[in-house]
Amino acid sequence: MQPKTQLTSLKPYQPGKPIEEVKKEFGLSKIVKLASNENPYGCSPLAKKAIEDELNSLHLYPDGYAAGIREKVADYIGVGQDEIIFGNGSDEIVQILCRAYLSAGTSTVMPAPTFPQYRHNAVIEGAEIREISLVDGDHDLESMLGAIDESTKIVWLCNPNNPTGTYITKDDFDAFMKKVPRDVLVVSDEAYFEYVGAEDYPDTVPFLNEYENLIILRTFSKAYGLASLRIGYGLANASVIQAIEPAREPFNTSRIAQAAALAAIDDQDFIADCRKKNNEGLKQYYDFCEEHSLFYYPSETNFILININGDSDEVFMHLLRHGYIVRSGSALGFPGFIRITVGSSEENKEILSLLAVYLKTQNVSR
Ligand SMILES: *Cc1c(COP(=O)(O)O)cnc(C)c1O
Repeated sequence: MQPKTQLTSLKPYQPGKPIEEVKKEFGLSKIVKLASNENPYGCSPLAKKAIEDELNSLHLYPDGYAAGIREKVADYIGVGQDEIIFGNGSDEIVQILCRAYLSAGTSTVMPAPTFPQYRHNAVIEGAEIREISLVDGDHDLESMLGAIDESTKIVWLCNPNNPTGTYITKDDFDAFMKKVPRDVLVVSDEAYFEYVGAEDYPDTVPFLNEYENLIILRTFSKAYGLASLRIGYGLANASVIQAIEPAREPFNTSRIAQAAALAAIDDQDFIADCRKKNNEGLKQYYDFCEEHSLFYYPSETNFILININGDSDEVFMHLLRHGYIVRSGSALGFPGFIRITVGSSEENKEILSLLAVYLKTQNVSR
């Protein structure tokens, strides 16, 4: 049996190497995974408590409408309850949008390199993919506008961008929205929203009042530390939400995920604390890069993309043998770079001393 031909061109998503596998392979007892931008401090204790409280209801289907968390997010963000869609991670919202808008004969515009799921899902729907190269790590918004035509249904912005950690400013976002045709959906994927510190990063929510063709994606997987539960959401005008709802599975987010996310929003002290520690962690990496004259992209996220002036896969293996899982840039469109999730201060220190050892052996061998 042959699947749709476009599936044959795709590889399944390559996740960060699983901890258990690495332990066995290298005979290590301690493994630190800094490959998937998970929160090194876990999640709020309030979320854990909320999960315990759900344990007697596991036999019941979840609320497909997700009323509790819906009301909470609507209040917290300041949008209407009919302006939210929940997904099994924001990944699923990417999939829903592609199912809803893309098919053969349509096109979609995205930066490259960026988060791979936009392309992946668009390929499955048979749409034409228009990838516009980043310029100095930033979205080339002018060229992205230039790539839009009558066939274009969705334009993807990853803000901040994965894997560079760079961001689109408010002014640039504003100018971009003004120029995009109103019948083209703009997706602002803000998976790292809670980590951003830049003053000129856009608050996109008020733009929803002006633009019916905007959807904002956020998630509980990153700063909120609930990646395993799979819950994220999209914010858009009620007309857009209504239009895409039929493409959503009826019980796509679990009771546990809904309850944990609801409780997690109430613990903004936890988020603020994680943001502060993350900034201190980024500083450790910046200082190291300056000291060793390594190029890096200043990051508004909880990861950093560093040019290690060597073979990324070799550095990846060097760190792996010592129990640290990171991402090789070669799989992310940045050969010669590695992407490291910011860990605890101790973990960062250890990674950086392992990198220093690698750099020293490089210099010796040259
Ligand atoms: C991690 C990530 C996501 C996916 O998050 P989930 O909510 O866990 O599906 C989406 N977009 C970007 C840019 C990410 O880095």
